[in-house]
Amino acid sequence: MRKRTSPVLQVAVPAPLRRHFDYLAPPNVSEQQLTPGVRIKVPFGGRTHVGVLLATSDDSSVPAGRLKRAMALLDTTPVLPDDMLQLMTWASTYYQHPVGEVLQHALPVLLRQGRSASAPTVTVWRLAAGSTLDPDTMAQLHQRAPRQAALLESLQQAPDGLNAAQFSDLQWDWRAAMARLVDKGQVEAHTRSCLSEPGAAAAQPGPPLNDHQQAAVAAATGHLGEFEVCLLDGVTGSGKTEVYLNIIEQVIAQDRQALVLVPEIGLTPQLVARFRKRLASPPAVLHSGLTDQERLCAWLAARDGEASVVIGTRSAVFTPLARPGVFIVDEEHDVSFKQQEGFRYSARDLAIVRARRTGIPVVLGSATPSLESLHNAARARYRHLILPERAGAARPPALHVLDVRHRPMAGGISAPLLEAMQRHLTQAGQVLLFLNRRGYAPTLICHDCGWVGSCHSCVTHMTFHQGERRLRCHHCGAERKVDVQCPDCGSPDLRSLGVGTEQIEQSVREQLPDFVIVRIDRDSTRRKGAMDRLLTQVHEGHGQILVGTQMIAKGHHFPNVTLVGVLDADQGLYSADFRASERMAQLILQVAGRAGRAERPGEVLIQTHHPDHPLLQALINDGYHAFAEALLAEREETSFPPCSHLALLRAEAPGREAPLVFLEAARESAEALAADGVSLFGPLTAPMERRAGRYRAQLLLQSDQRAALHRLLARWAPALEALKSGRRVRWSLDVDPMEMF
Ligand code: ADP
Ligand code: ZN
Ligand code: ZN
Repeated sequence: MRKRTSPVLQVAVPAPLRRHFDYLAPPNVSEQQLTPGVRIKVPFGGRTHVGVLLATSDDSSVPAGRLKRAMALLDTTPVLPDDMLQLMTWASTYYQHPVGEVLQHALPVLLRQGRSASAPTVTVWRLAAGSTLDPDTMAQLHQRAPRQAALLESLQQAPDGLNAAQFSDLQWDWRAAMARLVDKGQVEAHTRSCLSEPGAAAAQPGPPLNDHQQAAVAAATGHLGEFEVCLLDGVTGSGKTEVYLNIIEQVIAQDRQALVLVPEIGLTPQLVARFRKRLASPPAVLHSGLTDQERLCAWLAARDGEASVVIGTRSAVFTPLARPGVFIVDEEHDVSFKQQEGFRYSARDLAIVRARRTGIPVVLGSATPSLESLHNAARARYRHLILPERAGAARPPALHVLDVRHRPMAGGISAPLLEAMQRHLTQAGQVLLFLNRRGYAPTLICHDCGWVGSCHSCVTHMTFHQGERRLRCHHCGAERKVDVQCPDCGSPDLRSLGVGTEQIEQSVREQLPDFVIVRIDRDSTRRKGAMDRLLTQVHEGHGQILVGTQMIAKGHHFPNVTLVGVLDADQGLYSADFRASERMAQLILQVAGRAGRAERPGEVLIQTHHPDHPLLQALINDGYHAFAEALLAEREETSFPPCSHLALLRAEAPGREAPLVFLEAARESAEALAADGVSLFGPLTAPMERRAGRYRAQLLLQSDQRAALHRLLARWAPALEALKSGRRVRWSLDVDPMEMF
């Protein structure tokens, strides 16, 4: 190392290496312009990359002659403020993920590509002032150009104009048709801020809060400007969202911003509409359906303080805020807050870390809090705010176990459940059947020779989808047509084993032909807008029986549903994953919470082969808290989280040996680092040994002390990068893993 006259730039480059890269400053750039957080265009491996400046330094470990010069400075002011830069650097260390890739998550696509971070606007289309839509012209247009006609008619209904988001449901290329209308002068395109929705009405007040809600709001807002974690633990319908809205109002009144994180499927148009209606300033919404331009727009509005409220899914935790006031994580137990690939962060956990670094409160809300959060609340690390009853007059549903042993099951439905369905339907109630398995059946087998429809790339059966006569692998996406005969012996006697939602729908249709059935799962909602159409159908009463997977468990309320059938509770009781029973209980209660209102409380029937299972009994008889306590005792005994901390090293390769060889070397390397207080388990083959054509294995690290685990990880990750056997596998490190395969 030697002193240099011009500064060395430490740049986070999007590359899979756990380090930053050094460059000389671009030509004609002064030292004052080199603020951390600005984007810099750099040469990297023969290509050009957009990196982020982390810091400048006087020296570099790269020899003078080999230091490359950066190509250009892209910003005059940092795109990422210092607090975000610090948070991302922290996250990169905590999750042991390359800082360059971590920073990618903090930037909208357009900024990653090097586009300018300019003022947020969106295009709004309006009917041109002079354009006439007399019936004759329109009739002609309908003949000649039906798409243009349709657009003109929508615009006619919207004097304030419409933006791209409002056309996003259309299945055809509306932009081309709109461009032609603009060319012809019939439509005008304007730009405006992406935030102000046309015709947004003034804020409407919510219901007066009940005592529990008031206490929760007072507790959460008592120390704005100080770090505290509040666990808002309230049954479904207890008015948690009203509590959030009241907290947000107070935060806005102090001229600060609120960031609200919700699970992917919880971010419904209904939720956004509710926030929009109740708050005076329109929220910036960040979700996966946005165009790159819309996303940049919302992101900049948040960063520059133009948006007082930001609502988003997992990655929104990285949205910079000019004046952060509170973070809210709704359904904090939801696994979708944990990213399961690449940069494996937990948005909930990062929200807490960010709140601590910022010095503001964070509110975690759930009807079924994670064991991690309950554990922290029990140890007084979190303030525990409880909403024990449903708001308004609605009463909670009653849960009952339905012992299905020895009972005939017609297409997954036992006779007592069918009777209950008939009873509720004749009383004009709606019925919701929940089964967390889509398709017709999880297995297709030949009754004559035993052939089973297996995936060629994974060690698993393919799911039978009868409607399309296809076998589909739900793990790798492979699919193939099913012949009427067995591919091995030619027998026509192919039978399905087990049930999925498609079969439930069919069997209910056969058994209760007089009622309309609506199925909601990933297959039935694949097309854009399908989910909303199906939900509307249910809400308007044009569907008495609702069959669905966990897609129906969140965010939606079905007030006319009086009976919920949980078709298979056993899935979660005996699983290799230690979190399976926690998930099952959460899903059962979430689904149960969809039902019932004041005058018609819901009934919940849970089909099981293990009616006496102690966890199920605790859940049914004593409720979620008793269940969680029993489960926590189990975790304590077995030393699983939250009573210990885990990291999982996964490896996969086309051959069986390579992952095990790498993991063995990884284990030796950990042992050589004197892993005091950390236990190593493995290498073991993954529960699904082969997936998408690759063999998988893993090594589990476990420790009672987080610090000990992280001390080891910090020294181990660079050692792993250096392992030769690592080049023959794809490997990843998962800190605080949520899935154990
Ligand atoms: P959660 O988010 O806990 O599921 P919500 O905030 O969505 O609960 O409230 C459930 C229903 O109860 C909503 O229709 C809401 O408007 C209503 N509600 C909430 N708080 C009150 C209250 N204090 N008085 C009357 N109705 C309320
Ligand atoms: Zn056969
Ligand atoms: Zn597969």
